[in-house]
Amino acid sequence: MRVERIALSGFRNYDEQTVQFEPAVNVICGPNAQGKTNLLEAVYLLTGAHSFRTRFDRELIGFDRDWASVQAEVESAGRSQSVKLLFQRGQRRQVTVNGAKKTSASLAGLMTAVLFSPDDLYLIKEGAAARRRLMDNAICQLRPGYAALLADYNKLYENKTRILRDWREKPSLLAALDEFSDGLARCSARMIRYRASFAERLAEAAEPIHQDFSGGREKLALGYKTVSTVTDPRAPAEQIYTQVTAHQAAHRQAELDAGQCLTGIHKDDLEITLNDVAARSFASQGQARTAALSVKLAEREIFKAETGQYPVLLLDDVLSELDSARQEFVLNRIGGGQTLITCCEDENISRRTGGRVFTVTGGSIR
Ligand code: ATP
Ligand code: MG
Repeated sequence: MRVERIALSGFRNYDEQTVQFEPAVNVICGPNAQGKTNLLEAVYLLTGAHSFRTRFDRELIGFDRDWASVQAEVESAGRSQSVKLLFQRGQRRQVTVNGAKKTSASLAGLMTAVLFSPDDLYLIKEGAAARRRLMDNAICQLRPGYAALLADYNKLYENKTRILRDWREKPSLLAALDEFSDGLARCSARMIRYRASFAERLAEAAEPIHQDFSGGREKLALGYKTVSTVTDPRAPAEQIYTQVTAHQAAHRQAELDAGQCLTGIHKDDLEITLNDVAARSFASQGQARTAALSVKLAEREIFKAETGQYPVLLLDDVLSELDSARQEFVLNRIGGGQTLITCCEDENISRRTGGRVFTVTGGSIR
């Protein structure tokens, strides 16, 4: 799977720009604030997922423009496909594949990408939101149905939150509370199954990578944590639905008192342990970094197993954050697929990766 060519128009700080990428390693260099991450963001959007930097498409449009487009030729399963994304102010994004209109979710599987940024190095130590994002971003790319569920969930959650916040001033709002809770329970039941199955596969893939990475000294384990009444997150959706509903009922009064949503899968986590000890509380900085790298590399292996091809790997500034042993480990593991690496200095990294160098200056690429 690879991006052969990408053309940007009015996208962030790019006016009009076309780039032809190499099938293996591409090194994107340039000083700060020139457009390196913007280019990776454009490639990532081809997966159909949301941007890794913003929830709002309008932020992708150049400050002085009314619309932006990202057009690309993508090689997927041996076929060249033409993908176009159009962002217009005040409108929904438009997606076309080979000239036919599609939904964003239908891009799932056509092109997949794994992003690795310095933030990911804190994956282990950060709050649960970072680990939920990892699960959601990956599953959205692999399962078209999941992206739609996630969007529904977020909408229902916003509505329920508003009711819980405002019901004291406007008691009539309460009439709709149980309906939103029920909708959330229905979405949750299906999303829990997706997340549990993804977490299980991630755990299987990460363990041997981490074993290798730590020279056999550390055992990395991942466990999916969801609503406490759910006894088996892989059970049929109907059973999970009943258990989620029970949790909601038990917390209904507490939610009204607190004025916020206390129960639901927006609190899920992926618990990570190293040698059976909670990594979030006890891992050293170095251990946490190594474990985070193992998890991200495992994500890449899952995509490979799922689609038969390595996803496009986007390494945003991450190598410069690593010591040379960890750099070496990552670089030795990224073969077999297309990689886009951004960095501020070109020589060292491009020499070590043997990749082609692109230089970005003020939204223009050479
Ligand atoms: P760094 O090395 O610091 O990470 P970078 O090359 O990755 O830098 P980018 O994050 O790609 O930099 O951003 C480059 C510039 O794009 C920033 O100066 C930012 O102000 C600008 N920019 C972001 N969004 C827009 C937009 N919608 N319209 C125009 N310019 C934008
Ligand atoms: Mg950047």
